[in-house]
Amino acid sequence: MAQLSDDCFAFGGALLSVENALARIEERITAVVDTVTMPLGSARGRILARDVVASMNLPPHANSAVDGYAFAHADLMSGVETVLPVSGRAAAGHPLGQPAQRGTAVRIFTGASMPDGTDTVMMQEDCAVEEGRVRLKQGIRKGANRRHAGEDVAEGTVALAAGRRLSPADLGLAAALGHCELPVFRPLRVALLSTGDEVSEPGMALSPGMIYDANRVMLAALLEGLGCAVSDFGIRPDRESALADTLAMASADHDLIVTSGGVSTGEEDHVRRAIERLGRLHFWRLAIKPGRPVALGQIGGVPLIGLPGNPVAALVTFVVLARALIFKLAGAMLSAPRVFPVQAGFGYRKKPGRREYVRVSLRRDGEDLVAVKYPRDGAGILSSITQSEGLVMVDEETSDLSPGMAIDFLPFSEVIG
Ligand code: AMP
Ligand code: MG
Repeated sequence: MAQLSDDCFAFGGALLSVENALARIEERITAVVDTVTMPLGSARGRILARDVVASMNLPPHANSAVDGYAFAHADLMSGVETVLPVSGRAAAGHPLGQPAQRGTAVRIFTGASMPDGTDTVMMQEDCAVEEGRVRLKQGIRKGANRRHAGEDVAEGTVALAAGRRLSPADLGLAAALGHCELPVFRPLRVALLSTGDEVSEPGMALSPGMIYDANRVMLAALLEGLGCAVSDFGIRPDRESALADTLAMASADHDLIVTSGGVSTGEEDHVRRAIERLGRLHFWRLAIKPGRPVALGQIGGVPLIGLPGNPVAALVTFVVLARALIFKLAGAMLSAPRVFPVQAGFGYRKKPGRREYVRVSLRRDGEDLVAVKYPRDGAGILSSITQSEGLVMVDEETSDLSPGMAIDFLPFSEVIG
């Protein structure tokens, strides 16, 4: 298993832009997972470990796209209908078995191999059949309704690139190329814990001053949505020794540790000291809102990402940063989530130099999609996420956003599986 170098997260600067943070992940992080072979039926959502190069053409043979009559286009008369005798029959799985006779048509069905000597198919709706002959309308283009061998995937080309998360269609394509199994990376094993003396387990009675743990189940679902195998290390108290014990245990047999809370600079932030005791810790002060400093560290060779405790900040930093880190560790190609241009339906002022993510829903206004801001935006207001459809990104340069300006929309559906 590959290990990360000790200083892969080192960053000396004061404030790191989101773009630079992602570039650092792209440069410095490599996959830490081994390759296993999976039957196609179990490979959905797994990350492809090697390119799938087509060892055959797809489709393997030229074939008809419709039910109708196949013939050589050169046999058509120009400017009038043509009548040709029907000399044979080709159905899917039942080729004609010999070249078509010149000057005749062959009855053909969808998926049947194109008989040698034919190049065009007229669909049956456009033909009139009369006593063993077919009347073909004028004006059909040469090659109409014929699928070429290899028109989908040509032999020797990369059909699926290493690093893809296998979708249902990817599995179909691999099967069409004759594969029954694929090399994939084994899932990233992620240890997950929440921290905080005030954080308690949902389902238990809530003592005064306590809150229920929102982050753990949310982050577990986000991690599983990215294909990770999550181990639940529960809620750990704000005590350095207890945290250190848990982190040491987690680092023994995981590829990544994810924590929430306890990583800002307050005196109750014990995660930070526990990590420093066991391994190395780097803070990335990201120029991002919501989201406070994100802690990146290593215990032995195992990376750790410490997300903020506020649930909205935890979610946004997960989506923007942790997701990219996880993709790289898991062997996936780093694919930035797609954003879509929409119109701002609100005015917004902010400090330049920082990227801000605003929770919005979309409203259609004639041809335009307009982003409507959720009215409340505290980092602890988790209902602002459940009541919104995504985030708009107000970039570093912008200080004054006015209604009607174009803005990038990141739908939650892109990043939250
Ligand atoms: P911290 O980062 O530990 O200073 O926490 C920041 C805020 O997030 C505090 O109000 C915490 O109570 C809250 N918080 C921390 N962890 C969780 C959690 N697992 N679920 C919900 N809220 C949390
Ligand atoms: Mg805390």
